[in-house]
Amino acid sequence: MNSWADLYLPPIDSDFSFPALSLKDSASKKVVALPVKDVYRMYVCGITPYDATHLGHAATYVTFDLINRYLRAMGKRVHFVENVTDIDDPLLERAKRDNVDWKDLALSQIELFRGDMSDLHIIPPESYIGAVESIPLVVEAVTALQGKGAVYQVDDDLYFSVKSDPNFGSKANLSRAEMLELSAHRGGDPTRAGKHDALDALVWLHGRIGEPSWPSTFGDGRPGWHIECCAIALNYLPVNHDEDFLIDIQGGGNDLLFPHHEISASQAAVISGKEYARVYVHAGLIGLDGEKMSKSLGNLVFLSKLVAEGANPLAVRLALMSDHYSKDRMWTIDQLDQATRFLDRLRLLLSRPEVAPTRDVVQQLINAISHDLDTPSAINILKIWCDETERGSTGGSAGELSRAIDLLLGLAI
Ligand code: ZN
Repeated sequence: MNSWADLYLPPIDSDFSFPALSLKDSASKKVVALPVKDVYRMYVCGITPYDATHLGHAATYVTFDLINRYLRAMGKRVHFVENVTDIDDPLLERAKRDNVDWKDLALSQIELFRGDMSDLHIIPPESYIGAVESIPLVVEAVTALQGKGAVYQVDDDLYFSVKSDPNFGSKANLSRAEMLELSAHRGGDPTRAGKHDALDALVWLHGRIGEPSWPSTFGDGRPGWHIECCAIALNYLPVNHDEDFLIDIQGGGNDLLFPHHEISASQAAVISGKEYARVYVHAGLIGLDGEKMSKSLGNLVFLSKLVAEGANPLAVRLALMSDHYSKDRMWTIDQLDQATRFLDRLRLLLSRPEVAPTRDVVQQLINAISHDLDTPSAINILKIWCDETERGSTGGSAGELSRAIDLLLGLAI
């Protein structure tokens, strides 16, 4: 599937020093430094295309874009893969509710998403892969799981047995009761009769009358959600046999940690015999007026709507970076106003012929981002530079700072 237009990343002076990137790993609950190497592999879970792109999505993709930018600024190669779940129950339910064809709904929302990602200056993935186009890969992955004795049948549907992975549960570290509750709320079916374990996950749903299905060696049907991401990651991210992990970074919003990432990781581990991701990185959720932003509450704020109302999408990006990515946080219009004013101030000062020294500022920005994407500190560093420039300090290069802000923070100003 086509992604969106690539972005120019301005070079910065090779004299700057780039510390190893550290990130908060949800599995170990620690901030860990990624080993310094030439190639990184990052898989980020994409949208189900029926309500693109609300600010929770935007915050997630900005987070992984910051990772991508930092590693690329270090001169490293980043294999970045993202999926789009263009067939799943929520998409079919929304299409039915709105009396539209599910394919048309998906196509229109994917197109909207592409535009939103471009507006936010998100570097596109190398591989942007739909669930429908990856069905042969899912069939292959399910067959591989069958070969390991990890799949069983309930009626005509196929399930992955979580007990086939001895490390199942090690990513989210939840109690059994918590896992059961989250499974029920996040697309699982823990109460279905006939399952060996309530947490076992659907990998192949036998075709239902009136719903789309595709032929396979298991009969007509469609893929489960977790196996979709597992199959795409296994096929589109290159394996390095010298490494202990299949990929480096598994990312998404923190509502994906369980069951989605836990089960995808188990499936990949059972198929490959290797641990899945080196780190599991999760962006916090964005709330509104003291409440979680969710489709069920009907309080989603959409990027395209803000832009249609006159917001600068890069001010939205900056506002989302004003707090740490890993925190659940509230969205306020005041944040957007502040970010808009700060972008204007920065743009004005960067156009001055004389500006405050920039060399240390760029190094400080690099250091802040290297430390678990500390964007609040990065913004503060820029504010201090603005103050100094306004006080008449000179000796810096506006071009140097401008390029670094674009390269590291994705703010082309
Ligand atoms: Zn996923």
